[in-house]
Amino acid sequence: MVRTKLQRCKDCEEYGLGDICKHCDGKMETVAPLKYSPEDPQGTRRRQRVDAGSDIWIESLPTPRKVIEGEEEE
Ligand SMILES: [Zn+2]
Repeated sequence: MVRTKLQRCKDCEEYGLGDICKHCDGKMETVAPLKYSPEDPQGTRRRQRVDAGSDIWIESLPTPRKVIEGEEEE
């Protein structure tokens, strides 16, 4: 899967996509993408943190829908 590499300015820590910061013309460095594991060892903890399955959590979703057990939000 191709991802656009997110860059971050070394000087002002603004995020962007180019090699040069749009804010201060500083040099941008690539931000390492979040690691993703299919096994998702943190999944249970993360779902607990967002209180997945609760009415509040459901309302926070972009589109109300039936929650499929085990489905990742990504
Ligand atoms: Zn900058």
